[in-house]
Amino acid sequence: MESAQKHKLAGWGNYPVAESYTVNPRNEEDARGDLNKGRVIARGLGRSYGDQAVNEDQFVAVCTKLNHFLKWNEQEGILECEAGVSLEEIILTFGPKGWLPMICPGTKFVTIGGAIANDIHGKAHHIDGSFVNCVLSFTILLADGTIAEASRTENADLFWANFGGLGLLGVILTARLKLRRVETTYFKQKSIKIKNLDHMLEALEQYDHDYNYSVAWIDALAKGPKLGGGVLTLGNAAKLSELPENLKSNPLKLHATSRLTVPFFLPSFVLNGLTVRMLNKVIAFVQNSPKEFVHYEKFFFPLDAINNWNRGYGKRGFIQYQFVIPEDNGKKNLTEILEMIAASGCTPFLNVFKRMGEGQGILSFPFKGYTLAIDFPVTKNLLSFTPKLDAKVLSAGGRLYLGKDALLHESTFKAMYPQYEQWMAIKRKYDPGNRFTSNISRRLGLEIA
Ligand SMILES: Cc1cc2nc3c(=O)[nH]c(=O)nc-3n(C[C@H](O)[C@H](O)[C@H](O)COP(=O)(O)OP(=O)(O)OC[C@H]3O[C@@H](n4cnc5c(N)ncnc54)[C@H](O)[C@@H]3O)c2cc1C
Repeated sequence: MESAQKHKLAGWGNYPVAESYTVNPRNEEDARGDLNKGRVIARGLGRSYGDQAVNEDQFVAVCTKLNHFLKWNEQEGILECEAGVSLEEIILTFGPKGWLPMICPGTKFVTIGGAIANDIHGKAHHIDGSFVNCVLSFTILLADGTIAEASRTENADLFWANFGGLGLLGVILTARLKLRRVETTYFKQKSIKIKNLDHMLEALEQYDHDYNYSVAWIDALAKGPKLGGGVLTLGNAAKLSELPENLKSNPLKLHATSRLTVPFFLPSFVLNGLTVRMLNKVIAFVQNSPKEFVHYEKFFFPLDAINNWNRGYGKRGFIQYQFVIPEDNGKKNLTEILEMIAASGCTPFLNVFKRMGEGQGILSFPFKGYTLAIDFPVTKNLLSFTPKLDAKVLSAGGRLYLGKDALLHESTFKAMYPQYEQWMAIKRKYDPGNRFTSNISRRLGLEIA
């Protein structure tokens, strides 16, 4: 029987910090036992940024010990595994056989349970869609202690409500996933220096059809004629015949474990207007890489090169503000948003821009439009600025990514996601007594009254 310990726990942004009792189920019996202890939320590798996987004074079931592979069908590339398996574990095991996860976010340190609960997306969202597109089915431990199988044809309401459902319908135990066949673990990439927003939108229009992967870095401190400038990176999976001779000898090369670590929280003054301006110049230089062939590690997961890089923001923590707005009036709205950010004095850092395709799950974040993700250190100024930004995003017909959010107010959330009512009906059916709760469920009113 596992014992519970009270810990200070936070998401990747280290904001907010909540005292929660953690348990570490190793199997379905443990997980079922945890349901009797109190209100609970599942947690994976804690890479969601805000309060999704913390539960003040309640229980957090850290599922990383549910990390076994169960079945592998090499002909069809279908993997059945426990939900605590990470994308990294899949890459290390199946990469050498020529298979990679179909959808990769900006870090490989996410579990399958976390990937489902936030219906994560990657650089190829405009082509591949979100994580739901590689999940055939999953099993989930429900509030009444039973285990249900959910797929597009069985318990379909439960299936769709879990993509973007923030773990609030149960503990996902196992999943059947489709992996992607690859000839190499390299990408053929092209980088384009972007002058301003007009140029950015034109370049996306021009290249998005020819490249499966596209993402841009934007200098959010740029103003006037340079507003919206940055670097657009495009890429396709490299075929074996395309690789240069020096890479052909090991075309399915894997990544090495990173030895670079930020050992402790840096003092808050380290990240300020001046250092961000300097770092932006370094990022622009690195992004504008002349290299034609890059390894998946650099292409998908450049931030994984430094362990615990989140400590660089200091103890006060940071948020990642990610929104999507429709393409209609996109240029006007993006201009206004970027101007608001540049004038806010809130030190925006690591700003990632991309065009998204259609969305799917009920509370899933993506829809067809433009998405921008910005890291902001937490300051008093930021806390009064984000409600203004939320109102602007809402008036542009947009919404925030709940998997990264830490500050949205309940009323704004409900206006951004009117489909929450459909989701609440499914919550009422499967968890009428709020067995599954978290800080975000209390903050956004995702609980049965
Ligand atoms: C550097 C970095 C880059 C990122 N890039 C992207 C990106 O490009 N695209 C994108 O979409 N996201 C991105 N993310 C966010 C990340 O992909 C998601 O937050 C993901 O859900 C984290 O998975 P996790 O295993 O760490 O889950 P956690 O953060 O631990 O939990 C996330 C949610 O999943 C739920 N959950 C976890 N396990 C289970 C389970 N077994 N059963 C039920 N619910 C469960 C939790 O309750 C919580 O609501 C990035 C994060 C970082 C740190």
